[in-house]
Order: sequence, then structure tokens, then C-alpha cells
Amino acid sequence: ERRARIAAWQGPGRTADGVAVSLLANVKDGASARAAAAGDAQGVGLFRTELLFLSTPTEPSVADQAAEYGKVCEAFPRGKVVLRTLDAGSDKPVPFATMADEENPALGVRGIRLAVDNPALITHQLDAAQRAAAANPECDLWVMAPMIATVAEARDFASQVRARGLKAGIMIEVPSTVLLIDAFLQEVDFASIGTNDLTQYTMAADRLSPQLAGLTTPWQPAVLRLIAQAGAGGQRASKPVGVCGEAAADPLLACVLHGMGITSLSMAPSSIPAVGAQLAHVTDAQCKDAAASVLTARDDQEARAIARDLLT
Ligand code: PEP
Ligand code: MG
Repeated sequence: ERRARIAAWQGPGRTADGVAVSLLANVKDGASARAAAAGDAQGVGLFRTELLFLSTPTEPSVADQAAEYGKVCEAFPRGKVVLRTLDAGSDKPVPFATMADEENPALGVRGIRLAVDNPALITHQLDAAQRAAAANPECDLWVMAPMIATVAEARDFASQVRARGLKAGIMIEVPSTVLLIDAFLQEVDFASIGTNDLTQYTMAADRLSPQLAGLTTPWQPAVLRLIAQAGAGGQRASKPVGVCGEAAADPLLACVLHGMGITSLSMAPSSIPAVGAQLAHVTDAQCKDAAASVLTARDDQEARAIARDLLT
């Protein structure tokens, strides 16, 4: 029965009572963006630019970067595209951008922290994004930074992005950003929760370790509470707060996220039909009820069971 619902589902995303839920794709290049556009994705919620450059020895020119970013805009000529600046370092080494030999790379110079020693990497990316946007005037290009931890980082990044006429956002991956969510949202136009890293840094558990999979599930109640706080912050500020980590691809959790006030869900394109079908099966009120109830759970299994009871 569930399979039949998934096969029969058609976008755009909405709950059973017709409340819209924006379902977006995580992509890595023009080809994956075109594949996402041929499916049910309404836009791109996470363009992981570092994946273009995993084997690129030297920094590509601004023109070359603009051409690559433009391909993703072309795949969604009138859609939203959220480009993330380089998240090099840790699990995604980029030859021209990654620090050699750190003792704790997940806690080291990764994401926006690269800009401290090498600000040109970011300014070149932003210049390229500006060119790609100019070449695709109807594409709604937003730009966000990964691994933001301080308000000053957000302020500095946003001023650089806005100077190029683009919407500026941050990823919420470090618990400090949730604890100060109102201050962060004053600085930017939007935020997107990276639940993979937010879970890793909340639970102090390596996202790459199979032994720690019980800790690195976003169903951990502490993680759910942080997501709920970020969603509530977005509602207070009337600014979009989406989710672009693996959590968005879990159909039951997607309903919970919607109930927490999360404004878009971005995932691997292949996950969109299952998420869309689950959302279409429940009402907006059921999602809100599940969102409140999972916060009473004491562990991940209890949280999952509560959601299953209320949403299936
Ligand atoms: C995340 O951390 O959840 C995220 C979307 O970013 P990445 O998986 O690329 O680190
Ligand atoms: Mg991340």
C-alpha cells in the first residue's frame, strides 16, 4: 500500500489538507541538477560546490567556476537554487583548499573557516555566483556558507553576498548557531539546517563511524529539540529555515520537520517521491502534533515510535 502511494505520488509537495511543502534536491553539478529537474524536485536546496573540485589540483578561474554554477541554474531556469560555498576539509578534502594533516579535521579548518587564511577562495566563489546569476536572470540564486559558528562569521559572509545582489544564508550545523538563533537570523536572509553535522557536533560522534550510528541519528531527542528551536526562530523572524541533511529524506521525520516550522526539505532526488507521498498522507495538524510529541521522547527509538503512531 505504501509502495503504491509512492508510485502514484505527483509533486509539488503538500500535506493531505493542501499546505505546501517545498521539496528540493541536493546536487553536486549540472548533470545531477538536470536529473533532479527531470524528477519531482522544485529547485535545489543544497548545491555542494566542493564536490566539483575533489580532484582539482589548483583553484579554477572565476570564469570556469561561473560556467559550472551556471549549469545548475540552467537546470532550474525559474526555480530556486541554493549554492553552498566550499565545504572543503574534514570528510571532503579539496586539494587546493584543504589544510594538510590536522589532528582533528572535523573540528579543524573546514567550511567557512578556510576563509580566515584564504579569503580569496570565498570572494572568487561569490564573484562566480554573481556571474552565474547574471547569466540566468530568472533563476533565484541564493548563497549560503557551511560550518558557521559565530555571529561575526555570519555578518561578514552576508555583507559579501549581499554586495553582489544575492540572498545570503548560513548553514546551521554547529549547536552554537541554534543557541543564538535569533541573533544569527538578524544577520542573514535564510538558514538551512545540515542535520548530518548538527547531529555529529551535538552528540560528539563522528558521522563517518559505523559503530556510532546509534548516536548519529537525527531522531536523537536532543537533535530534534535543536531543530525545533531553529524552526521556531525562523517563524519569529519570518525568515526561511530549511533542512538539507539526511533527516529530510526520512519520510516520517520529514513530516515532523514540517510540523516544526521548517520551510523546505532538500534531499537526494531519489528520496523525493517517498517523502512527498508521506506528506500527502497526513494533515498539517498531524505534523504539528507529531512535532510537539516527539520532544517528549527520551531516546531515538521512542521518538520514532511516537512519530510512527501519529503519522501512519
Ligand atoms: C549536513 O551536514 O547535514 C549537510 C547537509 O552538509 P554535508 O553533508 O555536505 O556536510
Ligand atoms: Mg555539513
